[in-house]
Amino acid sequence: MRSILQKCLACGRYSMKDVCPNCGHATGSPMPPRYSPEDRYGAYRRKLKRVHELER
Ligand SMILES: [Zn+2]
Repeated sequence: MRSILQKCLACGRYSMKDVCPNCGHATGSPMPPRYSPEDRYGAYRRKLKRVHELER
């Protein structure tokens, strides 16, 4: 079962769409099931860096 409310992985804005209406980044569940903290933070930092480069 999938939650309707999604959260942007880049800017943290909540949305019901798969893509953030604010920054266009992919959204995901606000509470991800099971991820290793290291992997999660690594992916988050990589994505954040990419968004910042795009917004320049
Ligand atoms: Zn966003």
